Amino acid sequence: MALATGHLPHSPGDRGGYFNVVDPATGGAFDEVPDQRPEELDSVVDRAHAAWHGWRADPAARRTALLAAADAVDAAASALGPLLTREQGKPLTESYAEVARTAARLRYFAELDIGTQPIADGRPVRSELRWRSLGPVAAIVPWNFPLQLASAKFAPALAAGNTMVLKPSPFTPLATRMLGSVLADALPEGVLTIVTGREPLGARLASHPGIRHVTFTGSAATGRAVAAGAAASLARVTLELGGNDAAVLLDDVDVEEIADRLFWAAFRNCGQVCMAVKRVYAPARHYARMVEALAHRAMTTVVGSGLDPASRLGPVNNAPQLARVERCTARALADGARPAAGGHRLDRPGYFFAPTILADVPADSPVVTKEQFGPVLPVLPYDSLDEAVRAANGTGFGLGGSVWGTDLDRAAAVADRLECGTAWINHHAELSLAQPFAGVKDSGVGVAGGPWGLYGNLRPFVVHRPEEV
Ligand code: NAD
Repeated sequence: MALATGHLPHSPGDRGGYFNVVDPATGGAFDEVPDQRPEELDSVVDRAHAAWHGWRADPAARRTALLAAADAVDAAASALGPLLTREQGKPLTESYAEVARTAARLRYFAELDIGTQPIADGRPVRSELRWRSLGPVAAIVPWNFPLQLASAKFAPALAAGNTMVLKPSPFTPLATRMLGSVLADALPEGVLTIVTGREPLGARLASHPGIRHVTFTGSAATGRAVAAGAAASLARVTLELGGNDAAVLLDDVDVEEIADRLFWAAFRNCGQVCMAVKRVYAPARHYARMVEALAHRAMTTVVGSGLDPASRLGPVNNAPQLARVERCTARALADGARPAAGGHRLDRPGYFFAPTILADVPADSPVVTKEQFGPVLPVLPYDSLDEAVRAANGTGFGLGGSVWGTDLDRAAAVADRLECGTAWINHHAELSLAQPFAGVKDSGVGVAGGPWGLYGNLRPFVVHRPEEV
């Protein structure tokens, strides 16, 4: 399939203005998309509702369409990948991985069997649990993994028999729009509609009376607003929010052996990962060597445009996020932190920030207590393991966490004490499509991933009938 990477045709519903999309590697605008008005949502949701009746009725046709959609995504990878890098900033290899994950997720959910389950309770009735779709689902996603997070919404929702209206972040709407046109060849009209626009488009979508489930990924503050909006129509809400994941190193850790994995667990996608390692707690006797090993990697990693094959790290995605990373780092330095590497913006066009390792950071500095969401990693020493676990659990977030050491049983016992949705031993942020994904505290509400993600898009329906005698 030949796809232009430039201007995409505007859909008939588009009227009014457009807004620019900026290449974060240059800081300059390179394309524009429609700034759709909230009033347009009425007809979009109506179409999603009309399409739902046919889409939910035939599971076999759905499966065939979703598998065809996955093939179409793979076939369009050479167009989707570079466009994603252009608007998001990440290295091209990571964009291609994101496209591949999108296709894999479509296949995974297409093949999941919804099934029916008998309910046995000893009474002479036959009770059967069936599952029904909900109706039009609204999805709102952020700019760090535009395609991967969009597919985490639409693959389970559509496989369950729902239709969807999906709103990408205004910072990264282009690859998602292109994905929408790729999927349009495989899916019936109205099953998946992409809308682009600035606020209050998302707020209006979340509170639209025709929407039956709002599935949101983004910050905790916006998640609260989305939940409040959805409350008006009592739509179901799934929120995947921020994280401030801690990596706790044990005293038997092999510093050199883990340094690469730990560095990339924090810096992949320029640290703009909900479940990146955002704080490291190291035993005092390994502290200096760990700081040095991470700082060495920070100083030698090639930072540049994601389109340059030599780049391992791209720019921060957008100007407000760069300003936030700068503020957070400046405050840590003012609080007494020592920049073992970086600590500043790079002096070149675009939104580049030097990979930064901060040592001697006060525990109450915002770079430790809040989510920095950028290429900055504080490393903190500890004396007692109880103190480290208490600190790891001591923020308002609870998305992921990890424990690093050579005695795996001991590490697993420490991991058990972390208050979060997923804990890893000796690595971080690797997720299987088949596992549940959920956060505690301010990190989220509801469950995505695996069969749990599918059932999050379904409602139970029970049929009782007398046992035949
Ligand atoms: P954000 O909350 O600012 O925006 C997310 C989305 O919501 C965007 O599409 C935005 O346009 C839209 N939006 C903004 N205001 C809205 C409103 N009032 N009502 C409805 N929608 C609105 O987040 P961001 O800056 O785009 O993304 C970064 C955040 O996302 C970080 O906190 C990060 O940890 C989190 N995140 C979480 C996960 C996860 O799975 N838990 C994954 C990736 C990112």
